[in-house]
Amino acid sequence: MDIKSPSIDYITPWTQKAHSHRLGLLRLDEINPVISGNKWFKLSENISTARNEGKSELLTFGGAYSNHLVATAKAAHDLGWGAIGFVRGLHAQTNDTPTLAACRSFGMRLHFLDREAYGQKDDASFLERLVRSYPKAHIVPEGGNNEAGRKGASSIVGHLPIDVGFVAVAMGTGTTFHGICDALPGPATALGFPALKGGAYLAANELERPNGRLYTDYHFGGFARHTPELLSFMDRFYIEYGIPLDFVYTAKMMFGVFDLLDKGLVPEGGPIVCIHTGGLQGNASLGQRLVQNCKNAC
Ligand SMILES: *Cc1c(COP(=O)(O)O)cnc(C)c1O
Repeated sequence: MDIKSPSIDYITPWTQKAHSHRLGLLRLDEINPVISGNKWFKLSENISTARNEGKSELLTFGGAYSNHLVATAKAAHDLGWGAIGFVRGLHAQTNDTPTLAACRSFGMRLHFLDREAYGQKDDASFLERLVRSYPKAHIVPEGGNNEAGRKGASSIVGHLPIDVGFVAVAMGTGTTFHGICDALPGPATALGFPALKGGAYLAANELERPNGRLYTDYHFGGFARHTPELLSFMDRFYIEYGIPLDFVYTAKMMFGVFDLLDKGLVPEGGPIVCIHTGGLQGNASLGQRLVQNCKNAC
């Protein structure tokens, strides 16, 4: 597996008030062209577990544009392991995506489940049946959201400057955010930006996390939704800094960080580092107009 150590790029926000700040971007999007961003960290610990259990296949779940699904397919491919993907939705048109084509090209066997069946993916009885049908497979939940995933995400902290004050991270399942909170040193605070509407449910755990804070207003209509404002932010970000963002997660997080800084809502307290969690292949669903924003993976 060819995984590069991530670098930190520094930028100055273009917005008026924020621009007295310097922001670091931890470029997890650059560690591998396909096993991108936080997905590698969550998978790496799952792969160790699988190895210890003598498994030689990875089985997981995701939608037709899932960053996690394609990262799993490529990781298994590079290990010489098999991969099985359960995909949400049965419709042939919506399931003919570049993401799934890539999964297949890495040898992942895909199975399509209707929404109801997919909804059972975490049920004990469904999982027992899977274990029996795929005895060689280590089962990774959707998004890599398990103990191993969280532990793997903790090691992202090792790539941050030791004096870091704030770490901004986009949230789907919240696994990455929680893993980072687990390992963050001393007074540092993690700022979480749910990419979905009603992200407050992720805050259920916030009470047990004195070092984590959620900002639930930057979902732009919901998961994988976008607005013209968000897309022009992404375009401008690329033009100003040469750094591509993805519209599902990292553009929403960066927009949120700029906005909070502009409103003076991030208190003093050390350097701010934003995690570029990758996911650029997802921009393929936007079609041609943002083609520069998915140069890595499309
Ligand atoms: C999956 C993903 C996230 C969300 O990670 P969670 O651990 O599920 O919260 C954030 N950013 C990108 C680019 C992703 O692909």
